[in-house]
Amino acid sequence: MRKILILLLTVGLVGNPAAYELPDLGDSSAAVFSSQDEKALGREIMMEIRADRDYFDDPETVDFLNSVGNRLLAVSEDATGMQFEFFVVQDPSLNAFAMPGGYIGVHTGLMVAAENESELASVLAHEISHVTQHHIARMIEAQSKNMPLTFAAMAAALLAARSNPNASVGAMMGAQAGMIQAELDFTRENEREADRLGIQRLIKSGYDPRAMSTFFSKLQRYGRFYEGTAPAYLKTHPLTTERLAEIQNRLQGLPYKQVQDRPDFQLIRARISALTGGSQAALRSFEQQKLDVKNPDDLPHVYGLAVAQWRARQLDAAAKTMASLEAVTAPNALFYSLDAQIKHDAGDAPGALALYRAGLNHYPDQRALNYGYIQALIDSNRDQEALDFIAKRIAFNNRDYHWYQMQSMAYAHLNEQLLSHQALAESYIKQGNLQAAMDQLQIAIKSGDGDFYQKSSVESRIREIKTTLEAEKGGRNKGSRLTGLNAARELAARS
Ligand SMILES: [Zn+2]
Repeated sequence: MRKILILLLTVGLVGNPAAYELPDLGDSSAAVFSSQDEKALGREIMMEIRADRDYFDDPETVDFLNSVGNRLLAVSEDATGMQFEFFVVQDPSLNAFAMPGGYIGVHTGLMVAAENESELASVLAHEISHVTQHHIARMIEAQSKNMPLTFAAMAAALLAARSNPNASVGAMMGAQAGMIQAELDFTRENEREADRLGIQRLIKSGYDPRAMSTFFSKLQRYGRFYEGTAPAYLKTHPLTTERLAEIQNRLQGLPYKQVQDRPDFQLIRARISALTGGSQAALRSFEQQKLDVKNPDDLPHVYGLAVAQWRARQLDAAAKTMASLEAVTAPNALFYSLDAQIKHDAGDAPGALALYRAGLNHYPDQRALNYGYIQALIDSNRDQEALDFIAKRIAFNNRDYHWYQMQSMAYAHLNEQLLSHQALAESYIKQGNLQAAMDQLQIAIKSGDGDFYQKSSVESRIREIKTTLEAEKGGRNKGSRLTGLNAARELAARS
């Protein structure tokens, strides 16, 4: 994450994502640091995280994590009207963190360390509470009474303190951010509240609330075992004996309930193990396990072996492993997407397309199947079909920047330069990076193709972004306490 921090300092306030979103309803009470501010700060940080090579953009893993998070949100009245996004960071350390605006990151190390779905859910349930209770906003407000902060310094300090608590913030970001690091810890009351609300979320959503106690105790034991290198999570969420006892108190008297994990939980853990670290080392570790498809406990590892073989480009072996697995298991979206990917990489485009279509019939919202299908259409020179399919997906959900990236690819393939750069610009807008979007729109205008209407559509987008960027600069010159945020707030109120 080191690269991210340095980048943040040099670019400062790059985008004003708030201007492209509808304003939040309510929450006028948070006058100093509003929900709009939280969203703008969160998206600023996410822009840097997404550009980092440790951002784990594996749609299968991300979809699974979001399905756990959404199950908790579905029963969370305090989260009504808030938007959340759960994302994955490739990092073996045990950590999870909430960013302002509902962005919750989980390290791959923590996902693998959780032994059942409820343990993973217990961490998310706790983090969701930090967001719904605006703990981060309160922390920033308390801090800014002592020292005015620039937006970029705040973003950088938050990112360092949350996602990499072992980093020396001062050295990386200069004195200002360094001085505030000490102030960026949740209070004991914050932690207690997040535990209490988290347990309620677990109960209401049908997860095992005891998992919070078992998983947090495990983290504590792990911390003692590796002396001096306590799991990163415990540094940002200090776990005292008192706090653990309080969690256990809350759990007392709850009726015992056996909670069944979905099969995908163990499959995703195996998938992460196969996709992280060196590809040969991952493959060896699965090969050494002497797996038996007749043993149900081995099945997730058989899937992991197939993923590791595919990753190591042993496509025939991967196909064979998958065939042995699918002979004894129920169909699964993860199997469809891996089978199709293997066929695609082996050069069998019609076979891959047929498998993607079959998978999408059963699992229309699985992003891996959607992305893979679009890629396979483009690779088969069926770009117009790809564009039609993307348009339908965008009509259903236009928040996902990946659709626009693939749209740009398909247009480029058709040699439609203006439309290709315009689509790429939209993907940057979805990521909150207005400057990069502006650059793409300028290229689009100069590209030399496109009709009158397409050109005027690009020009009007350029004017919109220019206005936003200028207003933002105005906010900065006014020397607002949280630089740039006032302008963001004004724009959001107008949009
Ligand atoms: Zn916490």
